[in-house]
Amino acid sequence: TAAAVEELTTPPVQVNFTKLLINGQFVDSASGKTFPTLDPRTEEVIANVAEGDAEDINRAVAAARKAFDEGPWPKMSAYERSKIMLKFADLVEKHNDELAALETWDNGKPYLQAAQAEVPSFVRLFRYYAGWADKIHGLTVPADGPHHVQTLHEPIGVAGQIIPWNFPLLMFAWKVGPALACGNTIVLKTAEQTPLTALYVANLFHEAGLPPGVLNIVSGFGPTAGAALASHMDVDKLAFTGSTETGKTVLGLAAKSNLKPVTLELGGKSPFIICEDADIDHAVELAHFALFFNQGQCCCAGSRTYVHERVYDEFIEKAKTRAMRRVVGDPFKKGVEQGPQIDSEQFQKVLRYIRSGRDSSATLECGGDRFGSKGYFIQPTVFSNVKEDMLIAQDEIFGPVQCVFKFKDIGEVIKRANNTRYGLAAGVFTKNIDTANTLTRGLRAGTVWVNCYDVFDAGIPFGGYKMSGMGREKGIYSLSNYLQVKAVVTPLKNP
Ligand code: ADP
Repeated sequence: TAAAVEELTTPPVQVNFTKLLINGQFVDSASGKTFPTLDPRTEEVIANVAEGDAEDINRAVAAARKAFDEGPWPKMSAYERSKIMLKFADLVEKHNDELAALETWDNGKPYLQAAQAEVPSFVRLFRYYAGWADKIHGLTVPADGPHHVQTLHEPIGVAGQIIPWNFPLLMFAWKVGPALACGNTIVLKTAEQTPLTALYVANLFHEAGLPPGVLNIVSGFGPTAGAALASHMDVDKLAFTGSTETGKTVLGLAAKSNLKPVTLELGGKSPFIICEDADIDHAVELAHFALFFNQGQCCCAGSRTYVHERVYDEFIEKAKTRAMRRVVGDPFKKGVEQGPQIDSEQFQKVLRYIRSGRDSSATLECGGDRFGSKGYFIQPTVFSNVKEDMLIAQDEIFGPVQCVFKFKDIGEVIKRANNTRYGLAAGVFTKNIDTANTLTRGLRAGTVWVNCYDVFDAGIPFGGYKMSGMGREKGIYSLSNYLQVKAVVTPLKNP
């Protein structure tokens, strides 16, 4: 109820780090400017944070360049790098609850989600990539002539990384983990909505022994700090997670400057397909989770729920009941499943899409408005009878709005599921192995979850087909984003 939003928990954590981190030092921005980061529960200021701009990006890139060219990071033994990363993971684990509280405060996500899932998977990811650091090596290659041929897998250099606000810690881990394991140095720009946790963990990283300049953090805005990083002539590689529109912009900036290679993890409109033989109660729960998790703010949200016509009515009834039971409120409170959206812009955007759905011939089953009168809370919303030509069926809403479609047969649903500019993920619900195989092979998406959703182990690659992105993160696949191959050819004198 709305009352739950009125009496808010005081976050059990303090904000200690608000400056830019350049060359191992917390410093003010060159301009002296700051910007506020807001508590999405109240729309009030949590802290004023140093606002980085092009000049700060220059300073950060110079520090990363020096740490790369002169060492010690890429010159350190891989085992030493691995040990620092493991020590860092231990420190983060020790500060689990504080860090989770800071993430919830800045982002609005349920505290238990941050404390029990996100900080632990952050730690897991760093341990996973620490394990890779000393297992990266090249090949010896048989040559036609009398030559000894080998490949060296070398770090690329200075990596520029731009991350979004929906999973500030996890996006940090997906980017920083593999880049450091491979021996690169980094300038990371956090999202302007959520600058706090990256600064907190970066401090722990230095406590763990990370040399200055290896990881630099610049808080600031996209068109200023972000664009300066993407177009910097001395940045050797760019990794970006965010909207497809901004992805196009940064790819253009990289091309126009020094042709730095780019990996992109962008938007999605992922289908979640429920066949007639599926366990309906399980499918209802997972379709609900696939869409509403993290306030619907997931690039891989299962945002087009396709239900077979024979189970459609039962599904709608149960999905609606489940959504109406969803507990919205102060994300610090136990039992709360959904906190506020990240900011006023996203909040207004989601409400506009809800209005567009209401104005179409889709049926509003429940929700449809803001929740309470303060903060960026939105009622869990379900639309049935959604048709492909509606705006809510095509655009990424990025909010707690489930759109349900009806289908008749597998061939048809594959075509309809693929009829989108996106291709990030898909969910398939069936007990029939042949149906599962037909769907998983037919769907054009970077991940297909069968009878599950949002399973994100460190080793599982993640990335998009089509306009959902380029390249893969996590797992062994992410290493190649941060390495380049040098062929070394030596003549053999007495073969
Ligand atoms: P959203 O619309 O969800 O905020 P964006 O793609 O705009 O997603 O933001 C993701 C990240 O990209 C953020 O760190 C943001 O500051 C950054 N960003 C936004 N615009 C630009 C830009 N023109 N150049 C570089 N980075 C940008």
